[in-house]
Amino acid sequence: MLTRRGFLSLAAAGAASWSNVVRRPDLRAAQYDLLIKGGRVIDPSRRFNAVADVAIANGRIAAVRPDIAAGSAAETFDAAGTLVVPGLIDIHTHAVREPDDAALCLRDGVTSLVDAGSRGSDNIDAGVAVAKAAPNRMRLLINISRTGNDQQNGELNDISKVDVAATRAAIERHRDFVVGIKVRLSDFVAGTNDLRGLTLAQSVARPLTLPIMIHMGQSKSPLPDLLAVLKRGDIVTHIYSPPPNGIFDDAGRLLPAVLDARKRGIWFDVGNGLNKHITWDVAERAFRLGLVPDTISTDWVPMGRDDQIFNLGTVLSKFLMLGMPLDRVIACVTSNAVKAMPAFGGFGTLAPGAVADVVVMAMEDGVFEFVDNARETRTGRMKLVTKATFQAGRRVSAAL
Ligand SMILES: [Zn+2]
Repeated sequence: MLTRRGFLSLAAAGAASWSNVVRRPDLRAAQYDLLIKGGRVIDPSRRFNAVADVAIANGRIAAVRPDIAAGSAAETFDAAGTLVVPGLIDIHTHAVREPDDAALCLRDGVTSLVDAGSRGSDNIDAGVAVAKAAPNRMRLLINISRTGNDQQNGELNDISKVDVAATRAAIERHRDFVVGIKVRLSDFVAGTNDLRGLTLAQSVARPLTLPIMIHMGQSKSPLPDLLAVLKRGDIVTHIYSPPPNGIFDDAGRLLPAVLDARKRGIWFDVGNGLNKHITWDVAERAFRLGLVPDTISTDWVPMGRDDQIFNLGTVLSKFLMLGMPLDRVIACVTSNAVKAMPAFGGFGTLAPGAVADVVVMAMEDGVFEFVDNARETRTGRMKLVTKATFQAGRRVSAAL
């Protein structure tokens, strides 16, 4: 039975697709199932940036080149004037908390995402069940504290909440879904246990060759002491956190340990969030000093849908405003995101043969106010807005 909500959603999806999609009556002659035609294709994994068509067959990318005949596909999506990019990857969200959160992200074009530390060994089974039921590719970083994120008490203030054996067992139980370990190190989360918590997390991660993601900013320990515990492939999130213990020394210079960590192959991630994770002052200074992010993530929470974060496209637009070139911004949520999160290997690309996760985005011109975590505003002139999301070659409903 079709509920009213379901009907409206189908109607909305239909209306949206009629404007762009042409179906051919004779499907027998079609070489491809779908042709996304005439957009600017940006695929940083292959350094591809040109107006071209994307042909899809059997849920996979079949070809990317200009002027593929419209008659060769059963359906054609007119992408003229828009950007066509690989399905977006958000490596830091908290989308495991409510069953519908991942679907909201999918509508924004996020075909792969990570919940970063909402769950620990006490509640990881339920978290994995949510990830398995999600309509997109959802993986988890297990929190090194048994409880997962604890906004009330701070999950590492009591170090006895770190149970190394239970964490290891949880990972072994869910090797396909738990793809790394999250450690939050702010004073309010960990107090003086920051280094101890991180060292224990590394004792689990290292033998399993899993990445650790640390949440930096306002820690008790100086950032260089935390970076010293990280290995190649680990991730630092909230890199534009305001002081204390951010990426600058007291004179406002980039800490040498930050540059050294980059050279050692540690990834620097945005983690926009809502509170104490990014200010324009820090980000602008970092950009002037050359510290651009490797990956751009939202630190998505439902509350962020109408405050500061909104969606991944909006967060990406902030980095266009800061002066990052478009293809580098797209790399931060596609090819670079795969490097930082090897569990997504094979995705984040439009290479022929890859699963056809494709997002059509408009680059809207206008005057857009972007708000940082300190409620300072900056004005941007461009905004990336998701127009259509295809998952394994199939259009995701435009409305929920
Ligand atoms: Zn977070």
